[in-house]
Amino acid sequence: MQILKVENLSKIYGSGETAVKALDNISFSVNKGEFLAIVGPSGSGKSTLLHILGGVDIPTKGKVIVDNTDVYAMDETALAIFRRRQIGLIYQFYNLIPVLDVTENITLPLLLDGRKVDQDNFNNIIKILGLEERLNHLPNQLSGGQQQRVSIGRALIGSPAIILADEPTGNLDTKNSGEIIRLLKYFHENYNQTLLVITHDESIALQADRIISIEDGRITRDEVIRR
Ligand code: ADP
Ligand code: ADP
Repeated sequence: MQILKVENLSKIYGSGETAVKALDNISFSVNKGEFLAIVGPSGSGKSTLLHILGGVDIPTKGKVIVDNTDVYAMDETALAIFRRRQIGLIYQFYNLIPVLDVTENITLPLLLDGRKVDQDNFNNIIKILGLEERLNHLPNQLSGGQQQRVSIGRALIGSPAIILADEPTGNLDTKNSGEIIRLLKYFHENYNQTLLVITHDESIALQADRIISIEDGRITRDEVIRR
């Protein structure tokens, strides 16, 4: 089953002489439960693509369809709801809210959406992430690896259609990077979670089901990994 379809997506920043074509007519689709790695040189358009897929940046041209919904045909209110319910975002620098503790950071997407926390689901996720002893800690009382585990919890708690991760291990050492990828793979394999991960790390990309390479805003390679 197709969960994501991208059709002829282009993004131009600015206009006239200084215009930058960040994405140039990109099309691809992703099946539910797929783990897709997106690789490519710095400035090739990877983050722009992820932001457009997540409903946080607007394409200049083209369509994004998530779970049969045309994302950019929605009005602002519907788009805001879409973002909260269907997209889980994970960033390189975690983007946790400093004044909220671990429990509050993880459950915030549900509360903003007026949804109740399913305690069993919460406990399960916390246990898998190994955060049971940290629930009342603030982000600045946690290591980088722990903060990224919190942000995985926040991305997962609402059971979104897709998790989008932009260099999730870019700020971590080898040990913590391995742990973060192991956890993302766990949720991919055991929760059938669809996962798109931007990475510079070849060894991470090779753990995905499929690798898309982007150069100068275009897809230059789209390859299924055989094991
Ligand atoms: P990557 O994630 O692959 O490093 P980006 O998507 O961040 O690439 O950037 C693609 C291109 O778009 C780059 O040339 C970058 O400078 C440009 N760009 C990204 N965001 C903006 C912006 N908000 N305004 C203008 N140019 C931008
Ligand atoms: P990890 O292997 O998860 O990176 P570390 O070895 O960096 O953990 O940290 C060990 C412990 O020290 C962590 O469990 C964490 O609670 C605590 N710790 C790490 N960094 C900080 C920090 N900046 N402030 C407070 N406590 C920290």
